[in-house]
Amino acid sequence: MAGNWKMYKTVKESVDFVKQLDEKFKGIQDREIVVCPVSLSIPGVVDALRFSNIQVGSQDAHWENEGAYTGNVSPSMFKDIGIKYVILGHSEKRQYDAETDQRINRKLKNVLKNGLRAIVCVGETLAEREGGRTEKVIETQLTGCFEGIGLGDLTEIVIAYEPVWAIGTGKNATPEQANEVHVFIRKWIEAKYNQEAAGAIRIQYGGSVKPENVKQLMGQPDIDGALVGGAALKVDSFSAIVQF
Ligand code: PEP
Repeated sequence: MAGNWKMYKTVKESVDFVKQLDEKFKGIQDREIVVCPVSLSIPGVVDALRFSNIQVGSQDAHWENEGAYTGNVSPSMFKDIGIKYVILGHSEKRQYDAETDQRINRKLKNVLKNGLRAIVCVGETLAEREGGRTEKVIETQLTGCFEGIGLGDLTEIVIAYEPVWAIGTGKNATPEQANEVHVFIRKWIEAKYNQEAAGAIRIQYGGSVKPENVKQLMGQPDIDGALVGGAALKVDSFSAIVQF
């Protein structure tokens, strides 16, 4: 269960917030909990959570470990500070920062090379869904993002299915709609790798997950977790989601 904070919360707000989450989540062992603050807050958050069962992720990471890339942070730098996960290919990066599947693929390779885990986001827009192109779009994204990724790397990768039309809109995919795409993603993994890998890979749903719908979504056989935006910014809603 992962929270993507996007560009919300100052350093102080982030640290105060995770201290409250830590109190709520003490003793939870049967699920993984991840928070992904803005990069600036990560050192403070990692420090506040050093004895916690909550893990920390970043919202992006570069394909190189260092270089003349103004405004970026590399996986080796994140690793050094103590994070475990990196979100890649979020639809907001695709939409506003011209992120492409090819770049996501390069970033994914570098994340894995640095021993970090990736949450790779895929998802269709409303026009693509209404045009009957959902599966084609997901297939193209997966093909690009997973180019050259070996079977042995899959244990370090989580896929997040995030229909763009459901992100931050309050309009979630129905549990059945989401599950259908998760099944499609699993079949794609089975065709490229094998059945065992397809069964084992974690596929999160993301898009307006809330305390009110998390139980039905998580009740679907192929939904293994949630990537949560807006509802991850408040202690009550995120803890209700994590402990659904
Ligand atoms: C997200 O940012 O990944 C997300 C799913 O946002 P929200 O939960 O607000 O739709």
